[in-house]
Amino acid sequence: MANLEDLLRASAALHRHLCPRQVLGVRMGLLAGQALPLELPRDDKRLLVFVETDGCVVDGVSVSAGCYVGHRTLRVIDQGKVAATFLDTSTGHAIRIAPQPGIRERAAMYAPHEQSRWHTQLLGYQRMPDDELFHLQTVVLTISLEKLLSKPGHRAICAACGEEVLNEREIVKDGVTLCRACAGEGYYQAAS
Ligand SMILES: [Zn+2]
Ligand SMILES: [Zn+2]
Repeated sequence: MANLEDLLRASAALHRHLCPRQVLGVRMGLLAGQALPLELPRDDKRLLVFVETDGCVVDGVSVSAGCYVGHRTLRVIDQGKVAATFLDTSTGHAIRIAPQPGIRERAAMYAPHEQSRWHTQLLGYQRMPDDELFHLQTVVLTISLEKLLSKPGHRAICAACGEEVLNEREIVKDGVTLCRACAGEGYYQAAS
């Protein structure tokens, strides 16, 4: 299993600097590997990770778990939390890892001589034991994994705009296949 320093270096390279939330992300992945247990980082699609915010923590989780949006092995479910659920898709076993309340303050006990709170967190989060840093729980998914992953190669064409829709994300209304935007679920509209 990869060690913390190597993973932090890899995460910093991806992120262009090292920051406290990447440390949390890397350590979440390391802890998930021990808890499931599963050899991480993966280079296959066995592990699926749900990260509950975008930003720095995602890069740390990606590097330590070997899971990426581009590989369809990591999804951002944006709930504004630095937390993640790790699902072993071959056993169905899932664990959610979230920081313990108050870790920002407690980091100072592990890095008392740093020049700023940011530096204290950066180093403290590397040194704190897992159980002081994180809360871990076994969970079950309430969403359909089958629907989420869909079938490789599945494609539909929207009858209204003609654009291609992957992964069964189309909507069939009165027998007409539509993309979400044309079905009224868009996140944009044409600028006038
Ligand atoms: Zn950052
Ligand atoms: Zn459309």
